[in-house]
Amino acid sequence: MNTALITPESGEGPPGLYIHIPFCRSKCGYCAFTSYPCLDAPPADYLAAVEREAARMAASPWAQARQFATLFIGGGTPTIYEAEELAGMLRTLRSSFVFVDQAEITVEANPNTVTPEKLATLRAAGVNRLSLGVQSFSDRLLTAIGRSHTQAEAMAAIQAARAAGFDNLNLDLIYGLPGQTLADLRESLVIALECFPEHLALYELMVEPGTPLARGVEEGRITLPDDDRMAEMESMAQELLAARGYQRYEIANYARPGYECRHNLNYWHNGSYVGLGASSVSCLSGLRLKSVADPAHYASLVEAGEAPYTEAEALGLEARFRESVIMGLRLLEGVSLPRLAARFGLTPQAYYGTTLERLVERGLLVFSGDFMRLSDQALPVAHQVLAELV
Ligand code: SF4
Repeated sequence: MNTALITPESGEGPPGLYIHIPFCRSKCGYCAFTSYPCLDAPPADYLAAVEREAARMAASPWAQARQFATLFIGGGTPTIYEAEELAGMLRTLRSSFVFVDQAEITVEANPNTVTPEKLATLRAAGVNRLSLGVQSFSDRLLTAIGRSHTQAEAMAAIQAARAAGFDNLNLDLIYGLPGQTLADLRESLVIALECFPEHLALYELMVEPGTPLARGVEEGRITLPDDDRMAEMESMAQELLAARGYQRYEIANYARPGYECRHNLNYWHNGSYVGLGASSVSCLSGLRLKSVADPAHYASLVEAGEAPYTEAEALGLEARFRESVIMGLRLLEGVSLPRLAARFGLTPQAYYGTTLERLVERGLLVFSGDFMRLSDQALPVAHQVLAELV
C-alpha cells in the first residue's frame, strides 16, 4: 500500500498537556513511579523549571499550531506543593499554551496533603477535576502497602473537595492488596459509592521489581490474593459498579455517563501530548521525547537553557499503528477500524495475520461493527492478550 499520503495526525484529536511532580511525603511500598520522598518543603526551583520548559515548548511551531484539550498535573503528589505555588504554575501554563474552551484541568492529590483552603484555591485557579489517591478505605490495608494517610483523612478530603466546588471527582482504588479479602474490597467500594464520585479508577496491584513489596513477596513475608481471588474481585467490582450506574470504559476505569477522563482517553486513542517535568514523556505526532528522571538534574538542564531529554525517538508508521491497536484495545468499546485505516492505511487483519486469527478463534478478540475489542473473557487476562500484539 502506498502510505505517502497517510497522515496519522489528521486522525488525532487535540493534544493534552501533562506535568509531572516527582515528590511525595513518603515512598509507598509498591511504588515504581518516579517520585522522591520529601520531608521538607519540595523545591521551588523545580516548578520554576517546569514553567521555563513550558514557555520553551509552547513557543515551538508544533505547539503553536495546536489547541490543548486537557491539562493533567500528576505525580508523585502535586499537592505536596502549596496551593498558591500550583496556582501560579497553572497561570503560567494557561498563558503559555492555547487551550480549548472548557478544557479539562485535573490535579492529582493524596488525602493527607489537602486542606479545604488548598482545594478552594485550586478550584478558584481553574482546576475542574480532582483525582484523589484513596487506594482503600481500610486502615489495615493502607498500612500494609505503606500509604501515609488514613480512611478518616480520605473521607475528610472528599468532603473538602465537594465543599470547594469540585463536581468532577475521581477516586483511585487498588485491589489485590496483601491480605485483602473479597469483603474488604466490597466494603471499600461501598464506601466509595456512598461518596458518589463521578469517576472511579480501580487498579490491580502490580508487583514491581525492586520495590519493598516485591522483596516481601519473594521472601514469603507478604502474601497476595491468588489469581482466582483476583478474578472474583474484578468481577464483583464490575457488577457492583455497573449496578450503581458506572460504566466500565477502560480496563481499570469506570465513570458515570459523561465523566470519562478526557486526558486519558487521548492516551488510549494514541493522540499527541506534551509532558513537562522530570521523567515525563511527550509524543508529538510520532516524535517521542523522554526527560531525565532526576528532578535536580532536570531543573539544572532547563535552567541552563538545554533540552532536558534523555531519549528521543521518531516512531515509524507501523510502530504507531501497533501502539494505537494496543492502547485502543484497553477501551471497552475497542479500537476503531475506520480510524486506524484513515490514520495508517493499515488494517489489524492484514497486519497481524494468523496471530490475530488465533486470538479471534480463542474467543479473546471480537469484531463488532466498526470496532475490534477484547472479549469479556479476555479482560481479566488483557495484559497477556495485548502482549501478543506488541
Ligand atoms: S503516593 Fe503515589 S507516587 Fe507517591 S510514593 Fe505513593 S504510590 Fe508512589
